[in-house]
Amino acid sequence: MSDCIFCRILAGEIPSTRLYEDDRVVAFLDVNPMAPGHALVVPRRHWTDLASVPAGAAASAEDLETRAALFEAVRLLSAAAVRAFGGGANLLQCTGVEGGQTVPHLHFHVIPRAPGGPVPPAFESGAARYASDAERDAVAARFRAAIEALRAEGR
Ligand SMILES: [Zn+2]
Repeated sequence: MSDCIFCRILAGEIPSTRLYEDDRVVAFLDVNPMAPGHALVVPRRHWTDLASVPAGAAASAEDLETRAALFEAVRLLSAAAVRAFGGGANLLQCTGVEGGQTVPHLHFHVIPRAPGGPVPPAFESGAARYASDAERDAVAARFRAAIEALRAEGR
């Protein structure tokens, strides 16, 4: 028996309120909703987080199918949230403890936002403004170097 709570939910060992499922992805209601209908979209494969998803030459055909199915389910749940609740929706994906991830099994939050409902959580836009253009450019250079390194590694 896995000690991963999401693997246990997907296996049916822990009950959940399921909204959607297919061969590769399951969506169910979050037990601690930020808004009514707050859903989690979870791949059946246990990938720890978005950064650990196989890419490039390391990705098998099944990995690629799961990646595609995951995006399709996120799209479907978002469209359904808009239709069901008549407003908008937020996507939230937390990678790593520092990113606020509390369950180490990749998942996307789809949070319906009904008209007149609670105001979306503040993401503190502008809370980390750059002290200078040079600082901004240094951050961008560091980010670009990591992107180039990942691409060079085929990831
Ligand atoms: Zn898991």
